[in-house]
Amino acid sequence: MGDYQLVCPSCNQTQPASFDYSCSCGKPGLIYSNYSKKVLDIAPHQGIWKYIDWMPVNSPSSSVSGPVTYKSQGLAEELGLEELWVTFNGYWPEKKALTTSATFKEFEAVVTLQRMKEYNVNNVVVASAGNTARAFAQMSRTNEIDVIDVVPEANLDNVWLTEPECPLLNLISVRNGDYLDAIVLAGRICNLMGYTPEGGAKNIARREGMSSCVLDAAYTIGDIPHHYFQGVGSGTGGISAHEAALRLSASGRFSNKNMRLHLAQNIPFTPMHNAYERGSREIDPDLDMPDGKASVTKVVASMLTNRKPPYSPARGVYDVLHDSNGKTYAVTNDQAEKAMKLFEQLEGADIVPESGVALGALFQAVEAGTIQKGEIVQLNVTGGGVKNVEMDYDVCKAQPLHIVEPDITDEELRGLFE
Ligand SMILES: *Cc1c(COP(=O)(O)O)cnc(C)c1O
Ligand SMILES: [Zn+2]
Repeated sequence: MGDYQLVCPSCNQTQPASFDYSCSCGKPGLIYSNYSKKVLDIAPHQGIWKYIDWMPVNSPSSSVSGPVTYKSQGLAEELGLEELWVTFNGYWPEKKALTTSATFKEFEAVVTLQRMKEYNVNNVVVASAGNTARAFAQMSRTNEIDVIDVVPEANLDNVWLTEPECPLLNLISVRNGDYLDAIVLAGRICNLMGYTPEGGAKNIARREGMSSCVLDAAYTIGDIPHHYFQGVGSGTGGISAHEAALRLSASGRFSNKNMRLHLAQNIPFTPMHNAYERGSREIDPDLDMPDGKASVTKVVASMLTNRKPPYSPARGVYDVLHDSNGKTYAVTNDQAEKAMKLFEQLEGADIVPESGVALGALFQAVEAGTIQKGEIVQLNVTGGGVKNVEMDYDVCKAQPLHIVEPDITDEELRGLFE
């Protein structure tokens, strides 16, 4: 079990473990956990719970989902790489990947809900572009915590369950809204009703759940990867990957000390890429995401569309890119779709568009000569195996309990919960 303290990167104050993520200094830095165990021992559990030493919980839940890392052959050959490792987060029984909601968002949901249970929290409001909502909805079927999912109307198709018929879920969708509208509405629900926010990038349980991808890679490969590729919307996965690499590096068990982050966005919505290329710690909406709301609707990787990502705060995306000597990428829809097809052909499972964006970036990096042939490369397939899920399970599409306008009044909003 993870014994830890919380550290604020803005003022370096340390506080004992608690449910709260804020610091008295009031600055927006992302508070992180400092585990007393400096060397991670693999625990005799399933899935992400193998890494419970570095998870902010006391005990594991019954979940078996977790990342599966394996060495690529087909794709490695195509790219001319000797050490290409795929971390597959999804459902691919042949590879023992049993994440039925089919993305790494499930790890976040599993750890967050377990932590909430341990703190006697009985409700949570989740703002999501779709995949997080699906993961939490799926988990809420076996958990007593009341989950309220808030999702843009256009992304409702992403909310499905592995059940023949969907039960009525606490699912609220925002008409004509995007992910940012869902975040804003979820925040209002928490304020009005006193419910618990999931917390986004600030939530250490979310970050530690996602960090399992790099822990799994390092313990499978025997070293920290030199390069890490991922598609990012908020960049929380990238932040988590960096945190995992820092902990692994400090454990002294591995020879490589730095893992370069390669974070990719989907053209035409690439605010973090644009800001980082300009060398800027701030996203300037006019420069970095002109027509932001319209361009969100034009990408194939609809999960990579956060208009207010945690880019600027201490230990946010800018910092982790800078610290790791990282790079950002802009990948077209066409490149992402080609990459998805190629992965399926060469590796044998379907992957989601966000993973296609990550693979598109890897192709760009190889072409640009950024990677040496023998270096260890981790491709984070953040989601995949949806076709395998559909073969093994009946799948139902969840129906929203309410579809609301983004400008719904407080009174009307309160009415939905009475
Ligand atoms: C959410 C999501 C991402 C992006 O994750 P970040 O939090 O932005 O790092 C990538 N791929 C999939 C499948 C996702 O659901
Ligand atoms: Zn502080």
